[in-house]
Amino acid sequence: MNFEKTVKQGRILNPLKGFEEDTITFEYRTDPLTGRNTTVIKGMLNYISKFLVSDEDLLNSLVEKTRTDCPFCPESVKTKTPMFPRDFLREGRILVGDAVVIPNLLGHAEQSILVVLSKEHHLKLKDFTRKLFFDGFKGGSAFLRRLREVESEIRFPVFVFNYLSPAGSSIFHPHMQVLVRDRPFYLVKLLLEKSKIYHENNGSSYWSDLISTEKKREERYLFEGNGVDWLVPFAPLRGLNEVQAIVKGKSNLLELSDKEWLGLAEGLSKILKFYHKQEYLSFNIIIVSGPMTEHLDYFDVNLRIISRPGIQALSFTDAWALPYLLWDGEAVEVPELLAEKIRKSLK
Ligand SMILES: [Zn+2]
Repeated sequence: MNFEKTVKQGRILNPLKGFEEDTITFEYRTDPLTGRNTTVIKGMLNYISKFLVSDEDLLNSLVEKTRTDCPFCPESVKTKTPMFPRDFLREGRILVGDAVVIPNLLGHAEQSILVVLSKEHHLKLKDFTRKLFFDGFKGGSAFLRRLREVESEIRFPVFVFNYLSPAGSSIFHPHMQVLVRDRPFYLVKLLLEKSKIYHENNGSSYWSDLISTEKKREERYLFEGNGVDWLVPFAPLRGLNEVQAIVKGKSNLLELSDKEWLGLAEGLSKILKFYHKQEYLSFNIIIVSGPMTEHLDYFDVNLRIISRPGIQALSFTDAWALPYLLWDGEAVEVPELLAEKIRKSLK
């Protein structure tokens, strides 16, 4: 496995140092599977850190304002949210613990559902417990199993979690989405194609090779538990505190047992505790899957989580032109340093 990087430098006369000549370092890293570039820029996390914390007063006022007509709060969830058609699910909604699974009013795919995760309208990141995630995952996977009984052709599911408006969520109340289509999302298609080629060329799975290589190298590896390995990617997709998890040997979401769902739930709750300590409050998660119709030896279900900017009057966003339109990656912290910070914080 090749972790390829090239270091380039730019020169400026720096006004902060009396116009002395200064060099800025750019590290171009190639993703070992996709070949996509991510530029690591040392010092950038510090430079943008003022945009990553939140204005507490503004946050609190938004929590109260959005609570008044929230469709997901316990008093409204049964009267203001859609139900599944009776022939799909007689009870109309799936309930697991505090999680409530409902169809999306508008949605993003032909099968688009929401998992309301909590009775609380707002949660700090430290309060996303493993039980909360686990119940949500069980609810989402119960929907997938029912969907497979009814529509055997539908193949590609993803779990998506956008928490708070900086992460693109229009509703404050904690909720996940499950989207299922007849065709994969672009990233899933790319990962499947590249994993297949890797398998043909090397006679082994990229994902198990990645885990064993990263475990040996230690610098980016975080921890494992219940069949799930956690690490900081060498060339992050988005690069704001990005962590990746891999579910060993399971190529689609229907193959996951309770043990592995728990592994994902536990790991997420740990990473969010780390984010909380850094004073972040917004994040995105994706869990990507191979087709539900077959097992693939060359692909493992995997997850990415990133933090997002804080809630502030300025509405700074890290979804700017370079990642959003040019499709390149930029890491604002050296991945190995991020891994070290997370490991220390979990001790
Ligand atoms: Zn609510």
